[in-house]
Amino acid sequence: MGFVRRGRAFALAGGFLLVVAAPSHAQPPPATIMCTDAGAHPVRAVQVTSGMIAKATTDSDGRPVIEYDPRPIDGVSSQQRLFVYAHECAHHALGHDAGPTYTPAQEQQADCYGIQTLIRRAGFTSHDVVILQTAMHDLPASTARRLPWRTRAYDLEGCLPDAVSPRQAAGRAGEQTAGDCVVHNDATNAIVSASRDHLTIDGVYAAGNRCQRELTCTFTIELGTLPDSDADAGSWRNFRVQQTITEQHALSRQVANTEFRFHGSVQTVRDGESVDFRVVPACR
Ligand SMILES: [Zn+2]
Repeated sequence: MGFVRRGRAFALAGGFLLVVAAPSHAQPPPATIMCTDAGAHPVRAVQVTSGMIAKATTDSDGRPVIEYDPRPIDGVSSQQRLFVYAHECAHHALGHDAGPTYTPAQEQQADCYGIQTLIRRAGFTSHDVVILQTAMHDLPASTARRLPWRTRAYDLEGCLPDAVSPRQAAGRAGEQTAGDCVVHNDATNAIVSASRDHLTIDGVYAAGNRCQRELTCTFTIELGTLPDSDADAGSWRNFRVQQTITEQHALSRQVANTEFRFHGSVQTVRDGESVDFRVVPACR
């Protein structure tokens, strides 16, 4: 699953970026989340160049750690990376013995614990989980080698709570509806003015509300630079985020388009690149 592309209707859960976006640093979303062991002690993340997205293991002192290789892999989304990381964390959290292999039951347990972590802490919705399920299933063998487990089936949707309290159910239904209500398309984003050095811009984006109730939305604006050739091709693949801005706006009911203006800046623009931005709404 890629991020929102120009010209495509927005269909991704927005909360996710709120958690992972680094404020005012030129960084891609991190590949890690906070992780604890079965005794609720923090588990250290150790950066390696093993080619493995993430792997639960122990350090030389026998303490649980997660080794992870943050280098990008073609065709693997940051959501997939985060899922792998959360799954590996889950093995520690659930006290699974980091033997050579885990049992299929332990793998499914870790999948579900990982999914629940992502729902609680990274804003994943059931919709994201459905997309993740497909994305994991569709990984080609060459890429699946980067996973810490052997090729296997996934039942991530089976991790979604189906027996929930009425209040939770209402909350979830509300969330789903809010996502369906908001209308935003990155293709309509515009830079209305730029400073002489091109580093500071005024940008404008628009959002609408097709539902009969007011929405409260958090908009996460990722401001950065994009190679011009990618911009022409409509690809965000090499988008380099340099500043993340979040804004809250209310959207009145059934308003086709409200424009919001923001002011932001980047540190550097390389030759052949231009400043660009994308916006992820998360509404309630
Ligand atoms: Zn596992």
